Amino acid sequence: MSQPRPLIAGNWKMNGLRSQLDEIARIRDGVARLPAHVDFALLLPATLLVEAAQLCRGSRLAIGGQTCHAAASGAHTGDISAEMLKDAGASLVLVGHSERRLACGETDAAVQAQAAAALRGGLGIVICVGETAEERANGRTLEVVGRQVKGSLPHPLEAGRLTLAYEPVWAIGTGLTPTPGDVAEVHEFIRVQLGHLLGRSGAMVRLVYGGSVKPANAAELMAVAHVDGALVGGASLRATDFLAIAAAYGPPA
Ligand code: PEP
Repeated sequence: MSQPRPLIAGNWKMNGLRSQLDEIARIRDGVARLPAHVDFALLLPATLLVEAAQLCRGSRLAIGGQTCHAAASGAHTGDISAEMLKDAGASLVLVGHSERRLACGETDAAVQAQAAAALRGGLGIVICVGETAEERANGRTLEVVGRQVKGSLPHPLEAGRLTLAYEPVWAIGTGLTPTPGDVAEVHEFIRVQLGHLLGRSGAMVRLVYGGSVKPANAAELMAVAHVDGALVGGASLRATDFLAIAAAYGPPA
């Protein structure tokens, strides 16, 4: 069975105006020169999706959303559905980011329903999991991550359309990162759990690390066993930083 293709994905969160479409074009042009076995994506605010998708059509830079509702349409003021994201040109969506789990009260069951909706809507999914500082300090990291993985995975699942992002909450936007050994422990744990949950196809799920990935630490983190890429927040907003991280899998041609 083949290995998952690495993915370097940028999460722009609630950042980005149409005046920054040039930055997206720079990222699109930069990734075109990077090694062919790596995938790239930007997860953008909904307001940028249509124009960004047009800019990136036919390129190696996929465009995605940052959340979706569990329903395809209906009375859900302010929400966005997987069908709408797809219609705007997105090919994937992030669900279960810790900022939404914590600020919007999204439970594992809610994330699972969103992920199922995204698959029904024809999108790839990136599901985030990760422990808080307190949970890590109390030795509960694997228990928490294990519960989130089990509770957030949709059924049935086509493993090749799933990326799981291990993002320790305390590492997001703080400049702190776990040691490579800590990352290896959690990723190996998730890989084994995926085998239990999905059988042989669990090996096809892509496992990326996220949390303060920067040009200076990307190569070390990407070299950890069972790390199939990165989910990058702050450093994805500037093409130079995103491309320097993306080059962790090999320099531009
Ligand atoms: C994120 O929010 O998904 C993230 C990884 O952020 P940062 O890279 O800024 O820590």
